[in-house]
Amino acid sequence: MNRITVTRRAVQVVFFILLMYGAFIWPRHYETPLPKVPAGVPRTTLYNRNRILWVSGKESVVDLYLPALACRFTAKGGLFKSCILHFFSENFTWRTSLQIMLPHIVWLVVLCLLLGRFWCGWICPMGALMDAMTWLRKLTRWRQIHLTPRWERFLFYLRHFLVWFTVVVSVLIGYPWLGQGANDALFLIYCQICPARLGYPPLGLVNPCWTDNTNSITMFLTVLGWFCFGLFFLSFAIPRFWCRICAIGALVGYFNRGALLTLEKSAQKCTSCGTCRRSCVLDLDDVYLERRRPVVTAPECQLCLTCLEDCPEPGCLELKFLGRRILRS
Ligand code: SF4
Ligand code: SF4
Ligand code: SF4
Repeated sequence: MNRITVTRRAVQVVFFILLMYGAFIWPRHYETPLPKVPAGVPRTTLYNRNRILWVSGKESVVDLYLPALACRFTAKGGLFKSCILHFFSENFTWRTSLQIMLPHIVWLVVLCLLLGRFWCGWICPMGALMDAMTWLRKLTRWRQIHLTPRWERFLFYLRHFLVWFTVVVSVLIGYPWLGQGANDALFLIYCQICPARLGYPPLGLVNPCWTDNTNSITMFLTVLGWFCFGLFFLSFAIPRFWCRICAIGALVGYFNRGALLTLEKSAQKCTSCGTCRRSCVLDLDDVYLERRRPVVTAPECQLCLTCLEDCPEPGCLELKFLGRRILRS
């Protein structure tokens, strides 16, 4: 294993422990400088033991949100409040005032603009689990499956659809048009299918709510949640499979091209050997194909730097922050 991969694995392990078990290490709740987002009505009616959105009832250690799966459903409330999509879903439904939301939005946008999808490649615990599955597959010598371009295109549309579907539903259920039963059932719609909701609590030795039989919508979402939880394990054969569906990654990806952390390529030094294309866990070919622009961070790129590490041409690929070189091939 190369130096970058070793460092990335170490960072992933540290953040996995912090994000999953931080609340065990620091059980106290600390007030943050940002305004506290008030709890809305849906929270008190739905975060209950028999409902799909059951949480431990504990506050997170800090009321901050992250652009990765720092999930609301972690045991003991977690170190951070939750992920970026949970923040928008919850607060659009509660119709939280812009005055309270704005500092949190600025905080999240700054994090996205600083690092782009580095959050996915290096910080997200779900990403670390998927990488562990890939490691296990390689260890057991199973063959990797590559998706066809048609499937990749389908998943591309699916994850972007999920972002905007979540936003629209979250806004709509803030109004009484659909009736209380439907509004409750559709609250935090994306969380209900995100594999972290079922996967994180058992890792903290607590049970999530496995089934919610309240009405036909919650039953349908229970089944869909289980189906998506199953899809997550496809990452054993297809590296980072859930990342190809994940709406949080898609949302953060909107910032990837404008982020201060960039992956750059020198077209003069590239010999078109194709190593970067072959080594990309997400089967991206942007680094390989790009000839005109120096910045090659695609919206899907998680800045894992495997391509940079594997590129045989010295100085052909570089990681830069604010234009200053940090690493080179
Ligand atoms: S795409 Fe989603 S699951 Fe994958 S690393 Fe990013 S936030 Fe985590
Ligand atoms: S690995 Fe490096 S030299 Fe080879 S195609 Fe990719 S960028 Fe070019
Ligand atoms: S393009 Fe390179 S840095 Fe981006 S995800 Fe693929 S291998 Fe990682």
